[in-house]
Amino acid sequence: MNLNTPIGQIPKVGSFHTSRLKKLKIETVEDLVHHYPFRYENLGTPVKINALKVGERVSTAGKVEQIQNIRTRYGKNLTFATINDGTASIEAVWFNQPFLVKTVTPGAKIGLAGKIDYFSHKPTLINPDYELLNKPGTKGGFHTKGLVPIYPETSRLSSKWLRNKIKEMLPMVVGKIDETLSSESRSRNSLITKRQALWQIHFPNSEEQVKQARRRLAFEEIFITSLQAIERKASWEKLVKARPLNIHQEKILTLISNLPFNLTSSQNKVIKEILADLSAGKSMNRLLQGDVGSGKTVVAAIAAYVAYLNGYQTAFMAPTEILAAQHLKTLTSILSPLGVKLSIRTSSSKKRGPFDIIVGTHAILSKNVTFDNLALVIIDEQHRFGVEQRALLRTKAKRAHVLTMTATPIPRSLALVIFGDLDISTLDELPQGRKKIKTFVVPPEKRNRAYQFLRNKILEKRQAFIICPIIEPSETLSTAKAAKEEYSHLKTEVFPDLKLGLLHGKMKHSEKEIVLENFRDNNLNILVATPVVEVGIDVPNATVMMIEAAERFGLASLHQLRGRVGRSDQQAYCLLFTESSTENVIERLSSLEKHHLGLKLAKIDLKMRGPGHIFGTAQSGIPSFKIAELTDLPLINAARNEANLVFNQQKVNFTKSLRKGLEKQPLVTPD
Ligand code: ADP
Ligand code: MG
Repeated sequence: MNLNTPIGQIPKVGSFHTSRLKKLKIETVEDLVHHYPFRYENLGTPVKINALKVGERVSTAGKVEQIQNIRTRYGKNLTFATINDGTASIEAVWFNQPFLVKTVTPGAKIGLAGKIDYFSHKPTLINPDYELLNKPGTKGGFHTKGLVPIYPETSRLSSKWLRNKIKEMLPMVVGKIDETLSSESRSRNSLITKRQALWQIHFPNSEEQVKQARRRLAFEEIFITSLQAIERKASWEKLVKARPLNIHQEKILTLISNLPFNLTSSQNKVIKEILADLSAGKSMNRLLQGDVGSGKTVVAAIAAYVAYLNGYQTAFMAPTEILAAQHLKTLTSILSPLGVKLSIRTSSSKKRGPFDIIVGTHAILSKNVTFDNLALVIIDEQHRFGVEQRALLRTKAKRAHVLTMTATPIPRSLALVIFGDLDISTLDELPQGRKKIKTFVVPPEKRNRAYQFLRNKILEKRQAFIICPIIEPSETLSTAKAAKEEYSHLKTEVFPDLKLGLLHGKMKHSEKEIVLENFRDNNLNILVATPVVEVGIDVPNATVMMIEAAERFGLASLHQLRGRVGRSDQQAYCLLFTESSTENVIERLSSLEKHHLGLKLAKIDLKMRGPGHIFGTAQSGIPSFKIAELTDLPLINAARNEANLVFNQQKVNFTKSLRKGLEKQPLVTPD
């Protein structure tokens, strides 16, 4: 028996259980012993039968005096047993488990856990959990007393079954489990060994043991992820010898002084960080995170200008055509007066000719775009690109610095785990004078008032967005309003006298452009759209944002959506419609009424729904941890520091460093 043994080969696990276990992603013995409980039921220490009290949940034990099945008048199967422990006896009753009499026989010693109540006028343990105690290896029992682990289950595969199997297998394989942390690492961070942790997570003697075990296993997950990231970073730095760039201070200052605004101190700080990278003779690989509207584009423009001044090209990649077009416009206004030549490359625009900066979608990655002279790659909204696309870009950009940008700021220590191979810069303030977007969660009964409110704003010559979560109707998304349907409904029933436009992701680029142009020119009062508007639309006259089925979005996505309004000195509003009245949902959405910084909202989402939801959809690139909570910042920091320390001390690759940490350990077993 070893860790790789397929689960179907262990005794008494047939094809039925094998298929059930597969549902839990358990295919080998190793998977089984790493299937961790998600909670524990504390059944306490067994109580003598003469001390049992009616109404309590108890753990007790004794000898079976007699047991028999009875069929009631109504056709129910009851199994009655009398249990005696020398101090007194008590009845137990089970419903519909007539097979019990085959295993629980008179004279057997059993442990019981359950609630005592009156049954047929007698104090009785009703449907208690039970276990036989005279089988070898069961000693005091582990299902009916103490802290009993409860596992993620699947139908017809109970925690009791899993507990039994783990109890059986763990002693056989625990000696083969490799240690991943050296004794120095463990003692620096007060961690128990991996083997000890596995025992304690499955069969703890106390809450304290559970805590120790969880902490140890969570630490390991983060430690390993971090070490891998540090490795990747080191190999990136070795592999990519980006062109060192000179910083032409005077010219950059001229650009900055020609901007129609003063840079925020955050922007200044971040620009310094980037320029330091570019000139340091190392390869920049930096993530710039900052809220919608925090002014990332101008930062990117300055970096691109540096490349230009050194005679090199920049590729600027955006996730949608709309956004690419927007960026082209912005960059052109800042840089073309300085002589920089810009070009665009999307699936529908293939402007050719020489360029200093090429802006585009992933079409930039196509074979027939070649770079003579690439020194900088900028990726906007990086989380919208797949891992492969990012990798492909890197292979195209052998000697280029990379700046990635995201409008979903997340706490620094979390970012370091998720994007551990990147350096991170954060824009943590908005340009001065921005008004907070007044945000309201709107229950169904206030919908008409909200429409009236919107109508009034349109009378004041303002414009509005109405966002629907999906394009086509879908049975499963019952509360979602399909944009098309919603559009025709709004157009005919709600705002027949107003001009409405429709924008969704399945439209041709040229169609989108026409709609957008009309909206920009205020020929449309309301733009009904799917979340494609999340990025790239800049219409300052739009001051109202209505979002349907808001509960479907992550807070960070909602925050980005509302960032489409509030782009002028006019007060802007965001109305979040939800049919849900679940307290949790309302509480989550209400945080948008109170908070106006993405970072804060990301922290709330992280707490309430976990990291997978911050970005709206489960996102590629976020490591999934079995046990580590990405909200446990002190632990994350400790594990990251340790990973750095180990990496720097050993200066060898990750797997080698793990091997080195291996050592023979005594086989630990619980008492
Ligand atoms: P982001 O990409 O971070 O969401 P943008 O770069 O699109 O934000 O900037 C949003 C708007 O703010 C743009 O109109 C831009 O010109 C403007 N802007 C950028 N920096 C400043 C600043 N320091 N002061 C005032 N306005 C700014
Ligand atoms: Mg942007």
